[in-house]
Amino acid sequence: MPIKIEHLGHDYAKGTPFEYRALKDINLEIEDGCFVGLIGHTGSGKSTLIQHLNGLLEPTSGTVYVDGRDIFNEKKDELYKLRLRIGLVFQYPEHQLFEETVAKDVAFGPRNLGLNETEIDDRVREAIENVGLDFDEVKDKSPFELSGGQMRRVAIAGILAMEPTVLILDEPTAGLDPAGRDEILGQIKKLHDERGITVILVSHSMEDVGKLVDKIIVMNDGDIEYFDTPAEVFKHTKHIEEIGLAAPEVTYLMQRLKETYLEINDSIFTVEGAVDEITRVLELHDQNPSLASAQETGDADV
Ligand code: ADP
Ligand code: MG
Repeated sequence: MPIKIEHLGHDYAKGTPFEYRALKDINLEIEDGCFVGLIGHTGSGKSTLIQHLNGLLEPTSGTVYVDGRDIFNEKKDELYKLRLRIGLVFQYPEHQLFEETVAKDVAFGPRNLGLNETEIDDRVREAIENVGLDFDEVKDKSPFELSGGQMRRVAIAGILAMEPTVLILDEPTAGLDPAGRDEILGQIKKLHDERGITVILVSHSMEDVGKLVDKIIVMNDGDIEYFDTPAEVFKHTKHIEEIGLAAPEVTYLMQRLKETYLEINDSIFTVEGAVDEITRVLELHDQNPSLASAQETGDADV
């Protein structure tokens, strides 16, 4: 289900003294199966934007097309069907757990889809396993007996059990420790790769999105500043800092190394990429001792 947004604007509290323009003029096209990272400073409009994708917020101006259909011009029941195919995991989704057992909580969505009991059971088991939990171990527990990270995964499983075609996650790793964060991100990546679903991951960590996504949307004050591959976006380190973000640490390292090793490619944003590139350049220098570094020849102003 491709997504296309044209001239989307959103005003909160329109017509009151508190009117606030949270989205200005958003134009965006997301292809089927794309893994997109959405980043921006707090208050830049990320959550406002994604809530337009499943019809939770209505545009003040502009149009949102999902699968070629203007979702705000659909009949109510059509809009409802479209919404079911777009899974939105809110920030701190564990606050919305409410059933007495994990299995019942995850079954809530599929039951609303009108599936039969066998189908529901299959989906619940699969969704719980897909977030890295042991089904038999957790199914009868109260969600509130689990750790924070496990509760978050149960909440995500509840959305996965709906088998969405587009999965949107609003800061799914907020407040988790590094191990919990890497595990959830790894599972999201796996789901994307195995099922070919579109994923939109809201994050304020360049580090996290850089190594996972195909494309990054950078938002700033209700506008889209960049929509490009990580390699392209991270070339604009200075501007990214001006709008309250930072490039991954390893990108800064590569930029510093480039001051000495002119041949180095500094559009790198993963540790693995940096290892490969540094190894390549060091070997090049070993084989070619005449390749003096910029510093040695005093030629650093390139
Ligand atoms: P982000 O998710 O990037 O932090 P949001 O989309 O939540 O940004 O918010 C964008 C802007 O809109 C912020 O300035 C925020 O204060 C404002 N805003 C968000 N929700 C509301 C609301 N319900 N009423 C009024 N203003 C809001
Ligand atoms: Mg937000």
